[in-house]
Amino acid sequence: MLQGARKEHAKALVNAAKEMNLDVEIRNLRKSEEIGLIDGLILPGGETTAMKIASQSEDLLSALWHYVETKNVPILATCAGAILLCQNKLIRATIERNVYGGQLHSFQTMIKSTIGDGEFPGVFIRAPAFKSNECEEIAYFDSEPVGLLDANRMALTFHPELTDDLRFHRWLLTSALKTKGL
Ligand code: GLN
Repeated sequence: MLQGARKEHAKALVNAAKEMNLDVEIRNLRKSEEIGLIDGLILPGGETTAMKIASQSEDLLSALWHYVETKNVPILATCAGAILLCQNKLIRATIERNVYGGQLHSFQTMIKSTIGDGEFPGVFIRAPAFKSNECEEIAYFDSEPVGLLDANRMALTFHPELTDDLRFHRWLLTSALKTKGL
């Protein structure tokens, strides 16, 4: 919750939980003390530079990396969140920022995905692109991978929270249930 597209993720998660008949409690993490017991983590899009600056005073990001490494928490990371995952070596991939140009070059296009049924409306906002990976490729824009899965960590270069298609949020909830043995 340091910066970026946060509320939309919370809404998508609540809606996905409703579809799955689950009760979820959303924790808005701003400080390292707020991490507590979380069963799944969303790293939203936004601006990585701003996130890193905002994190410095509260030490949220380094505490989060430690938490997810020790607790094996499933992660859904989108756009700037995907950049943070790659830069901190939490998935086996490298990424380059702002590959498609600035805000004006943001775009929406149908992409292919192995998660859920049929094509997915990919919203790309000052999006990064994966340069290399040793992960399972789960989404493609043309032949370029735009979604990766490494064990229970998912990195997407687009913004699923800005669409009505909840398949990626459902994936996070399903993974959280699995990790808890439910
Ligand atoms: N351009 C941003 C960055 O480099 C990411 C954009 C996004 O999250 N929509 O951090």
